[in-house]
Amino acid sequence: MTTTDLWQSVLCEIERRVRRQQFETWFRCVKPQDISAARFCLAVPNRFYKDWIETYYIPVIKESALVATGQTPEVIVSVEPAAPTWPLEAASAVEDDSAERYASQTRPDVPAGSSSRYQFSPDYTFENFIVGPANRLCHAAAMAVADTPGTAYNPLFIHGGVGLGKTHLLQAACKSYLKRNQGHRLLYTSCEEFVNDYVSAVQRGNVAVFRQALREVDFMVIDDIHFLARAERTQEEFFHTFNTLYNAHKQIILSSDSSPADIPSIEDRLISRFKWGLVARLDAPAYETRLAIVNKKAGLRGFDLPKDVSELIARSIETNIRELEGALTRVLGYAALTNRALDASLAHEALREITQARPSVSIEDIAKIVGARFNVKLSDLQGKRRLKSVVLPRQICMHIARKLTDYSLEEIGGFFGGRDHTTVLYADEKIAELSKRDPRTRGLVAEVQSELMKAGR
Ligand code: ADP
Ligand code: MG
Repeated sequence: MTTTDLWQSVLCEIERRVRRQQFETWFRCVKPQDISAARFCLAVPNRFYKDWIETYYIPVIKESALVATGQTPEVIVSVEPAAPTWPLEAASAVEDDSAERYASQTRPDVPAGSSSRYQFSPDYTFENFIVGPANRLCHAAAMAVADTPGTAYNPLFIHGGVGLGKTHLLQAACKSYLKRNQGHRLLYTSCEEFVNDYVSAVQRGNVAVFRQALREVDFMVIDDIHFLARAERTQEEFFHTFNTLYNAHKQIILSSDSSPADIPSIEDRLISRFKWGLVARLDAPAYETRLAIVNKKAGLRGFDLPKDVSELIARSIETNIRELEGALTRVLGYAALTNRALDASLAHEALREITQARPSVSIEDIAKIVGARFNVKLSDLQGKRRLKSVVLPRQICMHIARKLTDYSLEEIGGFFGGRDHTTVLYADEKIAELSKRDPRTRGLVAEVQSELMKAGR
């Protein structure tokens, strides 16, 4: 294929992905200079085109190229003074005045339809999301806002620990929304990218354009909003965008690793807005859900795991689904590498390192962290008192010690004031039971565990 043919076929794909007006405005004047499957060198008439295409359309070009050529190319945009045949009205409008005026005339946009600023992971759909008690609310809310945006829960604020499915749910909501609302403008971006975009718009003197494009969005989804912490000027910008979209009944979905109030260094007026709609928390899923996730993920990769293998994997990791997937990958990889059947003994071997690699946790570390959460002194946890306010945290300590350490029942009991092994056993079972029923206890246990892991203790 010649450069022109290749570019034509890519243009056809681009045309299907952006709105007509965008296509006419931004792509008609692009001249293919040197095009191969691996590299697209494109020329545009001036800097404004270059900035604009680089800011908003690289993903669309790459996506379209992938469809047309089967490969994702590097895209390089350079300025080449306009040849007389190029459509120049737009360009001259830019030259005689600022980008702002131009933008307001042509309704600049983030790419619409199937394209977004971000690449979606094909597996992150509602169908592939396993629902259990720990994520049911978030799942239902994400479906509801994709279904009836801007009405039920606005904004929808999903928070939870690392690897619990925030990004998965956000992308699923985007896809579901786009399916029903073709041609609508959707913005899906990580907050980090949002901050970077804002900063570079400031540097280029393009803020008005950035702002305008944002405020014309129909469905705004920003992942990991806690990244706004300390980015004061971006917070200010985001605040106004939020207000504009909210007042226009446009749906906003945000995710964060902590609840609105717990995001450090963020303005109160933003925190209060985050709470206007629905704040929903993702907790670490229980064993049954993890088991279903392991089977689902294995199925997506074309494997049907024997029951005892999936059970072993589901037990190996408790607080992070991304790590759970890592354990699955490890087992599958190990089987392929050693050319052995996928059975329990192989899974054991493959997972042994993961379990061994866990940092060793001391009972004292557990007691300190739990004690701090309940505001109970270590000496009280270790003492004889049987006040309710001390008993519950003490039982939680015992339960976590059973889960995370190799100490015996006697040793654990010994640490907590010389209690006997039946007391520890009772505590362990009681908290395990309570965790099943009560999301707060479950969340607390998961948080303490991840704090212990993080501290590398
Ligand atoms: P987060 O954004 O909260 O850190 P992700 O959304 O990236 O987490 O999820 C990590 C991995 O776990 C992804 O591969 C995701 O598909 C998977 N995952 C999380 N929760 C579920 C679930 N309930 N069902 C299926 N997969 C899940
Ligand atoms: Mg994420």
